[in-house]
This record gives sequence, C-alpha cells and structure tokens, in this order.
Amino acid sequence: MSRSLTERNIVVTGAAKGIGRAISDMIVELGGNVIAVDLDKAGLSDLADSHRGRILPVVGNVADPGVAELAIDQGVSQHGILHGLVNNAGITRQASIVDMTHDQWQEVVAVHLTGSFHFLQAIGKHFVARRKVQDRAACSIVNISSTAGKRGTGVQINYGAAKAGMLGLTMSAAREWGKLEIRVNSICYGMVETEMLRGIDKATRDLYLTQIPFARAAQPEEAARPACFLLSDAASYITGQHLSVDGGFRMG
Ligand code: NAD
Repeated sequence: MSRSLTERNIVVTGAAKGIGRAISDMIVELGGNVIAVDLDKAGLSDLADSHRGRILPVVGNVADPGVAELAIDQGVSQHGILHGLVNNAGITRQASIVDMTHDQWQEVVAVHLTGSFHFLQAIGKHFVARRKVQDRAACSIVNISSTAGKRGTGVQINYGAAKAGMLGLTMSAAREWGKLEIRVNSICYGMVETEMLRGIDKATRDLYLTQIPFARAAQPEEAARPACFLLSDAASYITGQHLSVDGGFRMG
C-alpha cells in the first residue's frame, strides 16, 4: 500500500507554523492539497505562497464552533471531497494546580479538546454522508495529542487533561465509525523543536532530555512523517491507536 497522498484533500489545523506547517509541507510533497486553518494570517499566506494552488487558507480560531463547519464547507466547495483531518492546533497556559485560573483551564480545553471535537464532527458528517452513497475513498483523522496525555505533566493540568481527552475522542470515534472504515488515530509527541517547546524553561527541558533515550527533541519533519503515514493507505488497517513519537520517552 502506498504512502502517497496524491490528490488527497486534507484539513490541517494550526498549519501556519511548527508541526502543522511541517505536516502541510509534507502533504503537498506527497501529492496532496491542504485546507490550512490557523489564527495566523501571515503564516498561512507564507504557506500558500510556498505551494501555489495547493493550499486553501482558512483564517480562524478552532475554539470557535463555526470555524470547523466553515473550513469543511470551503474545502468541499474547492475540491469536491475531503480525505483527511489533522487536529493539530495547540496552545499552553502554564500554572500550578492551585494557581490555575478558570480562564487558563477553559482556553486550553477549548482549543485542544473542544476544537478537535468540532473539526472531527464537521468532517465526520462529510465522511458518513459519502459512505452512505458507497464512496469508499480514504477517510482518516489524526488527533495530535502528547505524552502529557498518556503520563500527565507538571504545572499544566489543563494541557494534560485536554491531551488525555483527545485520546478518548480518538477511541470513541474509531469505535463509532469502525464499520464505515473511517480511521481515527492519535499521535503522542514528546519534544519537538517548535515555538511551543521554546516556551519551556531550560531546567524543565534538560530534565525531559535526561528521560528520552535519544537525548534530543524531534525535528518538525520527524513529527510530520508519522502523521502522513496515518493519513495514507499504508495505514489502512490501523484505527483507534495512540502512536508515541517521542524518541523512546514512553515505552510500551
Ligand atoms: P506551535 O506553537 O509551534 O504552533 C501551533 C500553531 O497552532 C500555530 O500556528 C498557532 O497559530 C496555531 N493555533 C494556536 N491556537 C489556535 C487556535 N485557537 N485556532 C487556530 N490555530 C491556532 O506548536 P507546535 O509545537 O507545532 O504544536 C502543534 C501540536 O503538537 C499541538 O497540539 C501541541 O500540543 C502538540 N505537541 C507539541 C509538542 C512539542 O514539543 N512541540 C509536544 C507534544 C505535543
């Protein structure tokens, strides 16, 4: 089975930079088109300029329920059908449990968990409708979680809880849509060299590095490859899984 994404139309949230940008670049390299969603208009323009005609930019906040429907509608208008979704947009708001404000909790849960649900639901409506008319073309959803969702994380209970919630989202959707072969998987990254990682202090970074057998963070391209694999037909019998991409940080 092929790793090619030729003529696959894939929605990527948080596509303007970091891991989402690397995934978008790789989808295009593998032959696909990207419906690229982000708050960062300039970053989306740069992505679109790099891949003329292959990027449909959608400026919006994934936490806004209307944005998912808008992105899916625009993607369907442009391409006819969609084949995949990567729920990647993310933020952090660090605070100890006792100091965390309601807003810090809500913001992180709204972007990661609720935003991912809205996108999964919106593209799911399109996928289910296609299956009803016997359209068997690929349907794959990849939810970007974290080792924080599998093992917890300090001073970010909002993030750890939202990322664990995304694993539940993955398994529940994979079960509900299993008979339709709409595949839903998660990726749990450890450390990836992006702006988000640069936001953590040196002591915490060094502590994590001592626990990673590879003793280094991943480059964004190393994070993008497994996402493209899960989107492709090479992963045709894989669903409901949480793939660790973390240099051995968490084994088993
Ligand atoms: P990043 O900060 O480099 O990029 C995040 C992108 O998401 C940005 O383009 C930003 O504008 C966009 N975004 C943020 N909030 C948004 C919103 N509400 N609506 C639309 N777009 C929004 O981060 P990254 O490191 O590339 O992270 C990507 C994903 O990977 C996140 O879900 C993150 O939690 C996860 N992750 C990252 C690491 C890491 O070490 N970098 C580790 C584990 C998991």
